[in-house]
Amino acid sequence: MGLYEKFTRIANQREQFQISGLNPFGTCIDEIYSATEGRIGDQKIVLAGTNNYLGLTFNPEAITSGQKALEVQGTGTTGSRMANGSYGSHLALERELEAFFDRPTAIVFSTGYTANLGIISTLADPNRVVLIDEDCHASIYDACVLGGAQIIRFRHNDAHDLEKRMLRLGEQAKETIIIVEGIYSMLGDVAPLVEIAEIKRRLGGYLLVDEAHSFGVMGATGRGLAQDLGVEKDVDILLGTFSKSLASIGGFAVGSEAMEVMRYSSRPYIFTASPSPSSIASVRTSLKIIAQQPELREKLWDNANRLYQGLAKLGYEQGPRISPVVPVMIGSKEDGLRFWRDLITKGVYVNLVLPPAAPAGITLLRCSVNAAHSDQQIDTIIQAFAELKSQNGVVFNQA
Ligand code: PMP
Repeated sequence: MGLYEKFTRIANQREQFQISGLNPFGTCIDEIYSATEGRIGDQKIVLAGTNNYLGLTFNPEAITSGQKALEVQGTGTTGSRMANGSYGSHLALERELEAFFDRPTAIVFSTGYTANLGIISTLADPNRVVLIDEDCHASIYDACVLGGAQIIRFRHNDAHDLEKRMLRLGEQAKETIIIVEGIYSMLGDVAPLVEIAEIKRRLGGYLLVDEAHSFGVMGATGRGLAQDLGVEKDVDILLGTFSKSLASIGGFAVGSEAMEVMRYSSRPYIFTASPSPSSIASVRTSLKIIAQQPELREKLWDNANRLYQGLAKLGYEQGPRISPVVPVMIGSKEDGLRFWRDLITKGVYVNLVLPPAAPAGITLLRCSVNAAHSDQQIDTIIQAFAELKSQNGVVFNQA
């Protein structure tokens, strides 16, 4: 068997995408103009499929601090956090994250993916049972596999199912790790953290929450869903990324003093280069902006509301709640691909999500809004969906 033979099916699929025009899994944004606009080929587009929730990618202060760091500290660290890759700015950011989250320890990783891999794989060894929501991100699954943990999946957002599975474990439940996300990236729904925290208090275990999509987006000061629901005390470790609200690249974990030992035992922390000084500098500025400008969060939610209501009026089937992630359910993969392309020709870029990336075998067009979208841009997105509907009739329910 050839090296790549097992990929024949996927290669053929990709070929078909190429023949029939734009490839949704290899799209190149040829030019990026701002947090909300770019160009694909000849088409100017409104970006309605990013994770740039607070719209900070082009924030002038964040750009200036990144530029300064580039000049003063160079293009890269060329080493891991454990060796030569911890600069003063990495440590300063960790102190700032500790202050922001009011927790004793913060650890900065190279990406959100490696933050999950670094923390979870190290804790979730073969002696540990890990209970994860079935819709958790690939990085959480990969981390559990890397650690060799015993994985139990519970039904998405079903605290009762979690409880049932914990009860079956008897005494062992006390040593389990429960892992959920804040906002789920595809449906925009949120974990039932109040119920899960109560189960944890009653049956034991440790609770880890990946706030990748909710950090900067939810909570009185932007700490995420746990803050929003008042259960931060029940969460042992919060995980997050710099690649969404903080508009850069890198990841982090915040937790108790004891978490510090991860620095000496976590392979994904030790064996990869640390984030570049310019990324760290712009993250530090963006973190300050999150703390100082709650109006960005307000604008984000206004935009989420405007898009959700606009699409609802058109009769589109959407996610279970208003959220900056606004999924539109589509019947089939073929329709999904066609509509995705049509939207680009109408000047709107969204994410096409096919199974297995979309939960429960559905195809969806994942729209997302950010704080930098103007009302007019949100209306452009709604207008594109209105035209799509008038061209295609009502075809949007799940198969
Ligand atoms: N966790 C979740 C829930 C995510 O959605 C993502 C990325 N989409 C990550 C972790 C990984 O973050 P990063 O892309 O910054 O590596």
